[in-house]
Order: sequence, then C-alpha cells, then structure tokens
Amino acid sequence: MQAAPHTADKDLSTRRQRIVIVGGGFAGTTLLKQLICRLAQGYEVLMISEESYTTFNPMLPEVVGASIFPEQVVAPIRAMFSPSAHVRFIMGQVTSVNAQAKTLVCTSLHNDCEIAYEHLVLALGNRAMLNLIPGMAEHGLPLKTVGDAMHIRNIVLRRIARMELETDAQKLKSLGHFVVIGGGFSGAEVAGELIDCLRSVQHYYPRVNPADLSVTVLHDQDRMLLELPEYLGLAAAKSLRARGVNILLGANARAAEISDEHVKLTDGSVLLASTIITTIGTRPNALLAKLDLPLERGRLMAQSDFSVAGAPNLWTLGDCAHVINGFDGKPCPPTAQFAVRQAKALAFNLVARIKGEPTQAFSHKSLGSMAAIGHKKGVASVFGFCVTGLPAWLIWRAYYLIQMPTLGRKVRIYLEWTWGMFFPADITHLRFTRSEDRDMQ
Ligand SMILES: Cc1cc2nc3c(=O)[nH]c(=O)nc-3n(C[C@H](O)[C@H](O)[C@H](O)COP(=O)(O)OP(=O)(O)OC[C@H]3O[C@@H](n4cnc5c(N)ncnc54)[C@H](O)[C@@H]3O)c2cc1C
Repeated sequence: MQAAPHTADKDLSTRRQRIVIVGGGFAGTTLLKQLICRLAQGYEVLMISEESYTTFNPMLPEVVGASIFPEQVVAPIRAMFSPSAHVRFIMGQVTSVNAQAKTLVCTSLHNDCEIAYEHLVLALGNRAMLNLIPGMAEHGLPLKTVGDAMHIRNIVLRRIARMELETDAQKLKSLGHFVVIGGGFSGAEVAGELIDCLRSVQHYYPRVNPADLSVTVLHDQDRMLLELPEYLGLAAAKSLRARGVNILLGANARAAEISDEHVKLTDGSVLLASTIITTIGTRPNALLAKLDLPLERGRLMAQSDFSVAGAPNLWTLGDCAHVINGFDGKPCPPTAQFAVRQAKALAFNLVARIKGEPTQAFSHKSLGSMAAIGHKKGVASVFGFCVTGLPAWLIWRAYYLIQMPTLGRKVRIYLEWTWGMFFPADITHLRFTRSEDRDMQ
C-alpha cells in the first residue's frame, strides 16, 4: 500500500489563501514577480519548481559554443524576491494534483507533502523529445536544460582533445564532425555558435587539422528558420554557409537513424559523425497526462483568460498551455516572449478573480522574433522590419539582457559578453572530479 503524503509543515496542508505556481521558468517567475506587487494582504504565493534556479533557455546555445559560462544563463529563484511571510519557494517536483479537492503532492528535499491551495497555476514548460528517431535516445544530445548544454560543451571540447591523439583517418573524420538535427531557432543558433567556437579554439590544438573540423545542419524543410520571414531564413543560411557550415535541406535531409559513429539519412546516405545534437521535437510534461483534463497536442487547454475548464481555480500558461491569442485567433507559440506576456496578463486576471472582478481574454501582437547565429551574427524581425548581421545580434543581446532577472546577473552577463568580444572561447573542460575519484584512478 502506498504511504499517504505527509508534511512537517502543517500550514502547507491547511492554509487556504494561497496561490501556488508550479514551474519556475519564464512564465512562472514573471507571474511570481507580478503577483508580489499586486496581491491583497493575507494571501501567500508559493512557488514550487524542480530546480532552485530559472534557466534562460535562449542563451543555452552560447553555453554550447563556450561563449559564456553555464552559471550565467541561470538565476536563483530565491534572489528574485525579498523573503517574507507571504512569498515562499520550495525546490521540488509536483507529482499529482487533486483539482476538485484543491490539493497537490510535492516531492521535495524533505519528503512527499500535500499542499492545499486556493489557486493553482501550472507553468510546467515542456520536455525534450528523446526518441523521435531510432538511436536518438542512446546517441543524440538534446538541448533543453543547462545540464544538457554543459554536457554538449564538454563533449565538443573532449572530441577536439581526442583528435590530437587520433591517427585513424576515418575516426578523425567522425570525431571532428558535429551534426545538428533541426534548423529552427535552437538548431541555427547552436550551429552558429559551434562553428565559431571551433574556429576560435583551434589554435589551442595545433595537432588538429582545421579541415577535419566541420558542422552540418540537417533540416527536412525547404529552408531554415521557418518561424521567421523567408528573407531572414535565407540570410541565416547564407551567413552559416559563409562560415563553413554545411546545410542539408529537404525531405532527403531527414535523419533516419543515429549511432555513436554516424547519422543515416532517409535517402540512404550516411554522414560519419560522433556528435549529434538534436534540437527537434518536444514532449508534454508527464504531470499533464495525470490531470484528466483536456489536452490539445499535449498542451493543457486553457480558456482565453488562462483558466482551465472543469477545474476550479486552476490556471495554466507558457509552453505547457494551449492558449488562443485573441489578437489573431491562433494558438500562442511556445516562446519566451509569449510566456512573459501571458504571465503579466494572468497576474491581472488572478487579482481580478480574487476581487470578484471580470477577467480579460489574452491578446498580444508579437513584437517579432530573432536568433543569434554565432559571434556578432544575427537575424531579427522586429516590429515588421527585417534586420541581419551585427545590428540583429546587438538587438538580440539587448533584449535578453533586459529580460535577465536580477541586476547582479545582468551586470555579470554584460561583463562576460564584453570579455567575449575580445578574447577566444573558454576551453576549460570542467569534469567535477572529486578527491575520492582521483584516488580510484
Ligand atoms: C535551446 C532553447 C532555445 C530557445 N530559444 C528561444 C529564443 O531564442 N526565443 C524565445 O522566445 N524562446 C526560446 N526558447 C523557448 C523558451 O525558452 C520557452 O518558450 C520558455 O522557456 C517557456 O517558458 P515556460 O515558463 O513556459 O517553461 P520553462 O521555461 O521550460 O519552465 C518550466 C519550469 O517548470 C519546471 N517544472 C516542470 N515540471 C515540474 C513539476 N512537475 N514540478 C515542479 N516544477 C516543474 C521546470 O523544471 C522548469 O523550471 C528556447 C528554448 C530552448 C530549449
């Protein structure tokens, strides 16, 4: 028989005037900050998230390309609010929700505990798809978390170091070939970062022939960056190709099988490569499937004000939510921009509901989209204008610097970016070796 969840903190299971936000990503942390400013006295906001920090996903490709250190793309959630009796953070994973009883179960560092809420907001994001292609789960490298980015960065540095010692020509080819599956935002950004990283660090590895280092993007569409206007997609591909990235497009460029030595394409051709980074596909958070509430393409169906029909006081937003944008009648795209905008609108609606006032339907005109595709290179569509090259890259950096939570993080990232303008990528290969591991060797 399964033990009933319990809690050492009685207040968690009884107190009712509590808004619980599950998920400390773009959506959850923006909502938290908004609610702290607006909420009536007597209410408590509790954030529960799996990690103690929020990850700035758009900067993960820069970690892969060793342009910035991993610590710079995360910000501690506790540093985003002043500790008080009314704001609380628990690092833990919500494993079930009883939407009718308005309780949830959270697995934390302490124990499984039951938490009561008056309002619950699910801002769970989504997960990386790990098994879209045979061999992908075993040999593909997904990019979704800061751990993924650090892992890829270390693998890249390890491959180049290994090449210095390798004599077999076939093996050299495979070690030096980095394949990126997917030519959307993440794929284009990773490819740009990788090629610039390889070029900037190669002088540290004099025994590696630069001709043995290459990056290939596989994208089974007619052009890259379908999310952007055609002109920008073509400009991005041109910029990447000019730096030596091999871009394969169309149905024949679809990966059919991955191994530790190669990628097989649907047309039967084989690319020798030991490193295959996968930026395709997402899968829904497992908690959503347990809720017994309507899903649309794996996302929790929200009404136009973010409330979920059939579940009292349950709300959802961000990548995990299917929300129709009143501006164009289309589902909101899974982007940071929409997650942030939705959070601001939901804060308004939550406060309105508590005060007994009407809520508002979500409507947002997209400001545009942009991608940084390597050092001083970018493409951006802002307020209907297309910008490429250095100006687009600077817009990208300025926008994300503003979005970065906490002043301390902003200053640190600004300093590191400035440093990176003048110096090559950092080749420190952090292995987290501990003293006892050394003794074992
Ligand atoms: C590599 C990469 C590059 C990207 N680049 C861009 C870009 O350039 N521009 C752009 O607009 N968007 C970009 N995105 C998308 C953007 O990051 C997402 O749209 C945004 O993060 C969505 O915010 P969110 O809060 O909904 O989800 P997330 O930021 O994913 O946050 C969800 C949080 O919920 C937590 N969580 C999940 N389940 C539970 C649970 N059961 N219990 C407790 N906590 C839980 C997770 O740990 C996570 O912290 C990129 C994404 C990736 C992966």
